[in-house]
Amino acid sequence: MIPFNQPYLTGNESNYLDRVYANGHLSGNGELTTECHSIFQSTFGYKNVLLTNSATSALELASLLIDFKTDDELILPSYTFVASATPFALRNIRLKFCDSQSNHPNIDPDQIEALITEKTKAILVVHYAGMACEMDRIMEIASKHDLIVIEDASHSIDSYYKNQPLGSFGDFGIISFHETKNISSGQGGLLIVNNDEYWDRANIIWEKGTNRKDFREGKVDHYSWVDHGSNFYPSEIAAAFLRAQLDNREIIQSKRKKIWENYLAALSFIEDYDFMLPFFNESQTNNYHIFFIIAPNATTRDEFLQYMQENGVLALFHYEPLHRSAFVKNKLKIDLTLPNAEMFGNQLIRLPIFADLSENDLQKIIQLVKSFFDQQHK
Ligand SMILES: *Cc1c(COP(=O)(O)O)cnc(C)c1O
Repeated sequence: MIPFNQPYLTGNESNYLDRVYANGHLSGNGELTTECHSIFQSTFGYKNVLLTNSATSALELASLLIDFKTDDELILPSYTFVASATPFALRNIRLKFCDSQSNHPNIDPDQIEALITEKTKAILVVHYAGMACEMDRIMEIASKHDLIVIEDASHSIDSYYKNQPLGSFGDFGIISFHETKNISSGQGGLLIVNNDEYWDRANIIWEKGTNRKDFREGKVDHYSWVDHGSNFYPSEIAAAFLRAQLDNREIIQSKRKKIWENYLAALSFIEDYDFMLPFFNESQTNNYHIFFIIAPNATTRDEFLQYMQENGVLALFHYEPLHRSAFVKNKLKIDLTLPNAEMFGNQLIRLPIFADLSENDLQKIIQLVKSFFDQQHK
C-alpha cells in the first residue's frame, strides 16, 4: 500500500540529538530550543516566538492569553481540524462557526461580519493547505470591530500572503510540526506573538505560570508563581529534531513541490469530469502541504477513495465540518447548516504527498487516477 504520509528524515537529526545529550539538558528551553527560535526569527522575520509541544498547545496558550469573559464569542471556520476549536471550547468560549468560500475551503470573509455581535472577542482563521486567507479583508474587519485575530497556520510553514509569511498577520499565529506536516518534530508547535502587549505574559504562561524568564535575565533574584500557566515546552530532544528539519527546509520543500506540480500537470484532465483542482490567486503562495481535488458529489468521492484503496493507494478525505460533529450538536447544542463546509467535507480528496514519495509510486498513483475515470466512463 502506498501510504498517505510518511515521516521524512533529513539524516541530520542524530547529530543534533548527540549535541543535546552532550549538553546534558534534555528537558525544555535549552540551547536547541533557543536556536530554533532564532531560525524562525531570521528566516521568517517572526519577532516573538515560543516553541510548544504541539500546535494544539500553542492554541491553548493563545486562548489563555486572550481575556475572554463569560459568554464571549469566537468566530472560526467549521471546515478545520478539531484542534482549532478544542482549546477554546475547553474554556467555555462560545463558538460561532463560519462557512467556507464556495470555491475554496478557507473561511469566507463575506460571511464574517454577519456573525459579529457585541460579545465577539476574536476571529480565528485557518490557512487551508498553506493557502492564505484573505488577510487584508480579515484584518480590516477585525480592526473595524476591535477584534483579536488568531491565525491557525498549522499547515502553513513557508507560505506567504503578499510576500509576508503566514502567522505574522494576526495577534497570534500558530504552526504545527506534527508528523503529517511539512516540517516535523514528531509532535510540536510554534506560538508566534505578533502583538507585543501579550509577549511578557506569554512567557510567564509558557514557564508554567512563573517569572522564570526575568530570573534567567537577572532581573529578579528568584522566580515564583505569578500567573496561570502550564507545561507547554517541547523537550530539547524534540527541538533538536526540529532544528535538523529546519536546516533542510529548502530540500523538503523542493521535493514536495516536484510531486505537487507533477500531480497538477498530470491530472488537469479531471476538470473534464467535473472534478475541481486547487488554484491560487496572486496574493497566495503554495507550500505544497496538501494536494487536494474536489469530486462532483459525495458518491463519486467515495467511489474514488475506494478504488484507490483497493488498488493499493491510500487517498483520504477530511474534515468532518465541526458544526456537524457529535460534540457540537449534542453538547454545545448548535444546529447549523453551512453548505460550503459540508460540500468540502463530502467531496474533498487528498492524494498522498510526502518528501520521499518515489517517482515510481507517483506515476502509479497518477495512472490509477486515470484508470478510475476510464472504468467509470467506458
Ligand atoms: C495539525 C493541525 C492542528 C494541530 O496540530 P498539533 O501540532 O497536532 O497539535 C491544528 N489545526 C490544524 C488546522 C491542523 O491541521
